[in-house]
Amino acid sequence: MKCPDCHCAAPGGSVCPKCGQRVPERETFGGQGTHYLYVLMVISGLLFLLFCVIAGGTDIATGFWTLLHSNWFWLYMVIFAAPTVVGLYYWILLREEEITITDEFIARHSHWGDECLLWADIVAFRRRILPFKETRLGRITGLSRFLTRRKLFAKLPPIAYELVGTPDASGMPRIMSLEPGTVDDLPWLLELIEERIGPPQDVSLMSDDATTSSRDDTEGD
Ligand SMILES: [Zn+2]
Repeated sequence: MKCPDCHCAAPGGSVCPKCGQRVPERETFGGQGTHYLYVLMVISGLLFLLFCVIAGGTDIATGFWTLLHSNWFWLYMVIFAAPTVVGLYYWILLREEEITITDEFIARHSHWGDECLLWADIVAFRRRILPFKETRLGRITGLSRFLTRRKLFAKLPPIAYELVGTPDASGMPRIMSLEPGTVDDLPWLLELIEERIGPPQDVSLMSDDATTSSRDDTEGD
């Protein structure tokens, strides 16, 4: 494991040799469901404001009363609420998402099932370009770029990381894929993974430039 404060490598549960703080035995990472819900609620709010401005000009209160007494109020409500409803769907889908890391293993609990790999069983750590629209969750993961890191928009490259384990009983390699826009603190997660098994290998030669900039972004944190 690593000390969360000074990033010094030390066994989980031991005392950090640099700052003297106890190093956690396990680190857990949540999904991005709450983030998507938050961004989509902001979009709902902005739609509401936009309609009030259209109806009342600079006088937003008048615009609101105009909308409220309109025969089409129910339709406006559906339009305002739609992004929030989509956000709730993804929040429900991702609320169980959790990745756990210890000195022995990495495990993931999610809507799609449970996975666990011992570090000793991992034979490859790969990195490849994966556009947001091709992730398991689809285009919604692109929202992970918005209202993040105290910015309106953050340049987060669409990179997937794959941990490849020894084959299972049926002879198929066990692969845990960390897709872009799904983990809440990916830079810290990657740092902990790299401490155990080293840096990832690029899968596609075509994507060298993009992946290099991804490393810079990650390391810049
Ligand atoms: Zn420390």
